[in-house]
Amino acid sequence: MSTDVAPVVPAPGLVEQLYAELEQKIRALRPKDDLAPLEKAYRMAAEAHKDQLRQSGEPYMIHPLHVTLILADMQMDMVALITGLLHDTVEDTSLSLEQIKKEFGPEVAACVDGVTKLSKLKLYSREERQAENVRKMLLAMVDDIRVIIVKLADRLHNMRTLGALPPERQLRISQETAEIYAPIAHRLGMGKVRGELEDLSFRYLEPEAWADLMREIESQRVQNEEYLTKMRHDVEINLRRENIPVRVEARIKRPYSVFQKMKRQKISLDQVYDLLALRIVTDSVKNCYAALGVIHNEWHPIPGRIKDFIAIPRPNLYQSLHTSVIGAGGRSFEIQIRTEEMHRLAEEGIAAHWKYKEGRKGPGADDQRINWLRQLVEWQQEMRDPGEFISTLKVDLYPEEVYTFTPMGKVIPLPREATPIDFAYAIHSDVGTTCVGAKVNGRIVPLKYNLKNGDVVEILTQTGHLPSKDWLGMVKTPRARNKIKHLINATEHAKAIEIGQKYLEREARRLGVQLAKITKADLERVAGEYGCGKTEDLHAALGYGKFSARQVLQKLAPDTVEAPAVEALKPTPAPSGPGDSGDLVIKVKGVDDLLVYRAKCCNPIRGEGIVGYVTRGKGIAVHSKNCANVQNLMYEVERKIDVEWARAVTETFPVRVVVHTDDRPGMLNQLTSVLFAEQSNIRSLEASSDDKRGDGAIIDMTVEVRDKKQLERVAAAIRRISGVRDVERTE
Ligand code: MN
Repeated sequence: MSTDVAPVVPAPGLVEQLYAELEQKIRALRPKDDLAPLEKAYRMAAEAHKDQLRQSGEPYMIHPLHVTLILADMQMDMVALITGLLHDTVEDTSLSLEQIKKEFGPEVAACVDGVTKLSKLKLYSREERQAENVRKMLLAMVDDIRVIIVKLADRLHNMRTLGALPPERQLRISQETAEIYAPIAHRLGMGKVRGELEDLSFRYLEPEAWADLMREIESQRVQNEEYLTKMRHDVEINLRRENIPVRVEARIKRPYSVFQKMKRQKISLDQVYDLLALRIVTDSVKNCYAALGVIHNEWHPIPGRIKDFIAIPRPNLYQSLHTSVIGAGGRSFEIQIRTEEMHRLAEEGIAAHWKYKEGRKGPGADDQRINWLRQLVEWQQEMRDPGEFISTLKVDLYPEEVYTFTPMGKVIPLPREATPIDFAYAIHSDVGTTCVGAKVNGRIVPLKYNLKNGDVVEILTQTGHLPSKDWLGMVKTPRARNKIKHLINATEHAKAIEIGQKYLEREARRLGVQLAKITKADLERVAGEYGCGKTEDLHAALGYGKFSARQVLQKLAPDTVEAPAVEALKPTPAPSGPGDSGDLVIKVKGVDDLLVYRAKCCNPIRGEGIVGYVTRGKGIAVHSKNCANVQNLMYEVERKIDVEWARAVTETFPVRVVVHTDDRPGMLNQLTSVLFAEQSNIRSLEASSDDKRGDGAIIDMTVEVRDKKQLERVAAAIRRISGVRDVERTE
């Protein structure tokens, strides 16, 4: 140390000391590692943060150093350590991501970028039900789980030093920690970090309860510790006698866990049976069970407290045997039994994955852990060098969901491939109904746009707008689908009421019944006879062609209308409706579900001009406009109804087709123009050279077709292209 240099304000050497400590820590574990990049990162970060102070008045740089020390304790790899040092530079200093990429490579840059993005999110939510969404979204947003681990280390140090912040920030940060970060640590199996985060936030969120509990625990501490020491000794002796190699740890349950248990079960501290606990760590699963046997032989187990998380691991894959026994003096205490491996995973969870190991044996030796991780995070691995331990993990923790935001920052979770319409309905059904467009991240997108993680979605609405049937093909959420269907049905129902009412009025006029003179009560009574609750429903039923207006009028005014020869109260059997006649579909303009059939006299075919005629009790007959009968029928103009050929069926089916071709330019062009001519859309297309044959190409594509006929036409058209050797449909 040179003595002639003036010390740097305010804490001379504190930063340097911490860095020296960090190097030492890493050296102790991995003496052969090249620490030059770490030192470079330290210098760059220290320079970038040099004029910044923490709230406590200390130089800012001690924060990234402490974060990195935490990561070093977790034995994280070099990428994570360097990320720890640089994690606040992009957000808070003039250092850019490009510079970091240039100096430390893309992996570090991606991690720093990830941590920066997470820091920018407003995670705090006042609604408890939002918390799970925020957690999921956060996990879904990161490609590399190390981003989360660095973020957790960052949060841990911030929580440890929270005392320096003003009370309202303490509260906000503690709440976020308790709601978001501690559960994430739990989800990732990182028991140690989770425990500390919970205890620290508990202290700020429930200061009085915390103080009371600490006082109480403290008052019994000496006595409890003595008891634990004795029990630990007894357990050790008993297990050694049976030649079971063990390490026994004694502990008092964490304050937050104790608090929760007391609150949940409404009990006092004395009644927390597992306040005192021993942890037995042994070498094999066999010995875990052997140790359990020895314990139960020596002490009386409390019934119902034995839990085998080895046979049935917890969802985060925690494994241990738990039991509670009555120890000396009738005091109960908990015993957890596990192997070293289980212990490490329970404490460190996913972070154990990056743990530095001397003499790594390659992926084979880590198979078990990799399996564990696979189960834990449903990950997708991306190994650039299969011989090397995996350093980059693409994680997709929730492959079925995307997390989107409202402009106000509320998280809306949706299924994959959900569209802005789903989003709109998720906000409110009125927003969904009146949705006319959407902006995603400030840009207008089509309504069929597939939303992605982190998209900020703004819905454009127009009063009075109604959903169209096409929407049913665009939505992914049952909520949106049901609302749209409901609305379309309601619209059609209203139309049917209108038609039915007109039909009844016209028929009444024709038969000389004065509807105006019929009382409401009579109408309702007759409606009831037809199984309709309200007059409106009777009108609708008439509109749908279920009953004949004449019959109804006969009931309303029996003196005026002659009874038909055969009285039929039950709905007439459905005449041939849509769908019965092959691909011929007729629909009443703007109305669905009316009974529609083609008149036998003229049997109109698709494309012909048609006209509908409301029959008495048989639904709507569709005639060709030129049909001679129409001219006669149409004297009752009011029973005429507009009909049209339904648009060609719009539903399409994706089909995967593999085309084997000569490898020549222009092939793709021809292929796509053939598909275009057949009006078949291409969903995806991938061309590759045919490795088996060498001279050919394979085009693997998914096309949309309406039916088998169209697929056959498409396949035939493709086969006609010169150079196409084979076309096959695959799954
Ligand atoms: Mn930070």
